[in-house]
Amino acid sequence: MFPKKNISKTTCNYCGLGCGVIIQKDNPGKITVTGDQDHPVNKGILCSKGVTLQSKVSDHSDRILYPEMRWNRNMPRQRVTWDTALNRAAAVFKTFISKYGPDSVGFYVSGQCLTEEYYLIDKLVKGFLGTNNIDSNTLICGESEFTANKLVFGMDSIPGSIEDLELADCFFITNANPFRSNPILFKRLERYKASNPEVKIIIADSRRTESCAIADIHLQLKPGTEIILFRAIGRFLIENNLIDKEFIEFRTEGFNEYKNKAMEKSLEEASAICDIPVIDIILAAEYIGKAKSFISMLPAGNNQNSTDLNKNLSLINLSLITGQIGKEGCGPFPLSDQPHIITGTEAGGLSDSLPGHRSIINQEHREEIAKYWGVPSISDKRGYTDTELFDNLLSGKLKAIWIINTNPLVSLPPARNIEVALKNSKFVIVQDISLKSETVPFADLILPAAGWLEKEGTITNPGRRISLAHKLTNAPGEAIPGISIISRFAEKMGFADPFKYENPSDIFLEYSRITKQTIFDVSNINFELLHQNRSMQWPFEPSGKSTKILYSDHIFNTASCKANFHSVAKGHLPYELNQNYPLLLTSGQTQDHWHSFSSTGKLVKVNLHTDKPLLEINKEDALNRGIKNGDVVEVFNEAGSVKVTAQYSLDIKKGVVFLPLQWGKVLIKDLDSISVPMHSQDDQMGVKTGFSVVQ
Ligand code: SF4
Repeated sequence: MFPKKNISKTTCNYCGLGCGVIIQKDNPGKITVTGDQDHPVNKGILCSKGVTLQSKVSDHSDRILYPEMRWNRNMPRQRVTWDTALNRAAAVFKTFISKYGPDSVGFYVSGQCLTEEYYLIDKLVKGFLGTNNIDSNTLICGESEFTANKLVFGMDSIPGSIEDLELADCFFITNANPFRSNPILFKRLERYKASNPEVKIIIADSRRTESCAIADIHLQLKPGTEIILFRAIGRFLIENNLIDKEFIEFRTEGFNEYKNKAMEKSLEEASAICDIPVIDIILAAEYIGKAKSFISMLPAGNNQNSTDLNKNLSLINLSLITGQIGKEGCGPFPLSDQPHIITGTEAGGLSDSLPGHRSIINQEHREEIAKYWGVPSISDKRGYTDTELFDNLLSGKLKAIWIINTNPLVSLPPARNIEVALKNSKFVIVQDISLKSETVPFADLILPAAGWLEKEGTITNPGRRISLAHKLTNAPGEAIPGISIISRFAEKMGFADPFKYENPSDIFLEYSRITKQTIFDVSNINFELLHQNRSMQWPFEPSGKSTKILYSDHIFNTASCKANFHSVAKGHLPYELNQNYPLLLTSGQTQDHWHSFSSTGKLVKVNLHTDKPLLEINKEDALNRGIKNGDVVEVFNEAGSVKVTAQYSLDIKKGVVFLPLQWGKVLIKDLDSISVPMHSQDDQMGVKTGFSVVQ
């Protein structure tokens, strides 16, 4: 529980970085939030979302205050008691499970959940309901990054630390504009570069964004050609002996195959495909090859398109050939935005995972967890992934879905399918804090959840740093913490005893013990230690000391203990533009806003930066089509069309247009095709696009 004093330290949970904040509460209960100078992540600075954190707890204008339910879809929802709400939820879930089997129900959860919530839901679903149909929205933001790390290093955690930012002498940022999407990390990088001008920053992006102000070279490549660029850089490094031969020979596997792939195209061919000068590819390669320590950034912009995994694997290959792993200032580094992006595999919560980086398909893992939870067995069938949950809702296989702290109608592609799927479902439960979520109107049952500072638990950032989030104030209305909702529902389902906990620290204790002797062993920490240390970075030494760098002995978690090169077959996206669809559409983050607006949309300060979506278009492309600055244009592709105001830009590559992702439902998502997810920050997914001027 939060200390009984007026000033306390906790963690911002807007985005995944987990900045340290100081909360001051004056007598009338007014809350002030400032950055914590002593926190290793943000060192006192906060982004514009962070500085408005107090409105998260003081402005209840959009909060869900009590449970609401409708008895059928022709009736309006009405306020009900928690007992009525959870009795109904249990009755519906019991009916479907007994009639159609456990796989007829599913849970779609979120990085906004605390670790203890994640763990508890996972335990209920996989251990007691008998299905693995649970998945998280973190899959949208980071799955391909984590999968790439797992394939290469044998574990889906980043090898380095956020502290490495000030230790590298070369950075390679692709498909991201951290100035907007990761402002605190960008600020740190900007300061570091200012005092160390010899540090090299390479940015590859089809837009010249604000981040390019600190770049030594901007590779304004054609969207979808990143893998060709990474291979061309690899080829130059190999041909010019700028590689770490000893590391490659003794600590990796698959180099020859990678080398063959890298040699397939000459630098000139790569230059033509990527539409960037050869000299720029060489310069970028020299920066990387001559760097003593090199960091490649893995952004969400690499993660959300049809070749996302291949892009990340190709990028990590550059760290492998240069031996830039296992020491300070090295390795792939996440530029993720979603909180708790890694907790799916740490605490369970994904369709194929079990707590402690265990896997559903591993019999030994299932048996260990079943024994620990005191259940006969855990299903060996992988559950539905995020999009599969809604596909199966659409087909009728899945009857009921419980959506927790996420707004799939905006954030999960394709929007039209999600809407039809929700309408097609038999029962939808939405557990959330905000009535503004576009998913709420589709709910048969709404459950009010406690939010930031209204519940206690832990958060893990992408740098493996576990922090405590404190309870400072009571939730408004009848909102309660997620762990209470799940425990009470479990009781209604007939599983009271396994879900009886005194407080969140007991859940953490149970969860941490389950990780003992796994690759993710956090069994020697507890809330008390976290209170003392503010935050801790796993893995921990027996003394509890944090580990900053993984693989410093160059022993990896793969079967061979070596890191794996992956020479992906797919080189670039086969965009075939034509007269009808002559341009490539990319998407990205708007300054300061958070995903679907349900959190940041109500903040006046943040809204001042932008109040409507604009289509960025190269001025020459616009003039060629008779589009004037400020014209409303119709943007269309094979999947749909939207009307939006055009804005000339000299900073976007000719042939490419850009739409912000926050207006997802009305903009980007309506242009999305089923096979190509397109919700990201600076996502270079490149949908073929056409135009007509509306007014
Ligand atoms: Fe909060 Fe993220 Fe901003 Fe830090 S960068 S203050 S964690 S929103």
